[in-house]
Amino acid sequence: MTLDARRLKEDFPCLDQEIDGKPVVYLDNACMTVKPRCVMDAMNEYYNQYPGCAGRSVHSFANKVTEKMDEARMIVREFLNADDERECVFMKNTTEGINRISGGIGLEKGDRVLTTDKEHNSNLVPWHMQREWRGAVHQVVKTRDDNTFDIEAFKEMMGPDVKMVAMGHVANLDGVAIPAREIIEIAHDHGAMVMLDGAQSAPHQAVDVQDLDVDFFVFSVHKTVGPTGMGIMYGKMEYLKDLKPTTVGGETVQDTFLDHSVLRGPPYRCEAGLQDYGGIIGTGAALRYIMDVGRDSIHQWELHLNRIMTERLAGLDGFSIIGPRDPSLRTGIMSFNIADMLPSDIGTYLDEEYKVMVRAGRHCVHSWFNARGVDGSVRASVYLYNTEEDIKIFCDGVEELL
Ligand code: PMP
Repeated sequence: MTLDARRLKEDFPCLDQEIDGKPVVYLDNACMTVKPRCVMDAMNEYYNQYPGCAGRSVHSFANKVTEKMDEARMIVREFLNADDERECVFMKNTTEGINRISGGIGLEKGDRVLTTDKEHNSNLVPWHMQREWRGAVHQVVKTRDDNTFDIEAFKEMMGPDVKMVAMGHVANLDGVAIPAREIIEIAHDHGAMVMLDGAQSAPHQAVDVQDLDVDFFVFSVHKTVGPTGMGIMYGKMEYLKDLKPTTVGGETVQDTFLDHSVLRGPPYRCEAGLQDYGGIIGTGAALRYIMDVGRDSIHQWELHLNRIMTERLAGLDGFSIIGPRDPSLRTGIMSFNIADMLPSDIGTYLDEEYKVMVRAGRHCVHSWFNARGVDGSVRASVYLYNTEEDIKIFCDGVEELL
């Protein structure tokens, strides 16, 4: 194993503390990851040393920020292996990216959009709105009983009127991945665009947008050890240049006249107004940190930890896992229930007694829980700084409850 989680943990100040005399065990990484010192240092450097804005003034602060912003965009390009850094747009989060895409691709009445039946609300509500506002038709590809993707059902639903296939690359509900490359190939054969919601994949595995041949890819930087309020929207240039920006104004234009405006090309036409420069610089530092650790090592380590918790808990009476039992199909996520206990009670107990932080509820996938008649679940999700000791403490807590 090439990853030394104990060493990496030392980079994250918030994990190096005790609460009520107990070490912090942070297992809510699918919601948000914690931040290493180098990210906070990079952001502090911006605020302390050159707190200007990029691309406008010609003074020293502004020049430095422009240089740092360009550098961060190059890091994003490398992180996704995009062909051109102008295909990488800074924005607030995954949710904003999906809204920009759904609102910008020019859906018309009768255009079909396919998602799975276990999308995060951020990849569901925007398509519902496109149905209400423009008459687009939103349809769901139902997953199999074990929550894995049904490629045959997908093939049957494809047709020339499908304009967009918008799917979670890895589900935050249960950690199950879709066969993205196969889906993209089939969609393209039918002339449809594909958008992957990469919120749960980009932080945990290498993503190569050119190899995938995906048209749009969005992810949140706060789940990749980066600052809150930052996200990335990647779009192939051929689509990005035609994407109708939903917010326009300063920075988005080449020139304006009293009666019309001339928009700039990507990415600037999509980045309206002054940006979160501290956040952008922190994004560069975060993605560099992840690439230095190595995404293949992160992926392997997460599987290792998930295997340990699954082997210890899966067979116990009253313990049930959402999705497949095989941990290699759930990356670093274990979503579970304990007999008839309320998920919120389980989460509160683990926090109060063991300082184990997990997520309890419906994880913004209300639609899946409503369709299956399940009230909610507890979700433990690991990341590069979680140790085997963390998993032991978590399992001790769950066993105590059982
Ligand atoms: N999609 C998935 C799969 C997610 O897990 C999340 C965050 N839980 C989102 C979208 C939304 O991310 P954000 O709130 O950062 O926009």
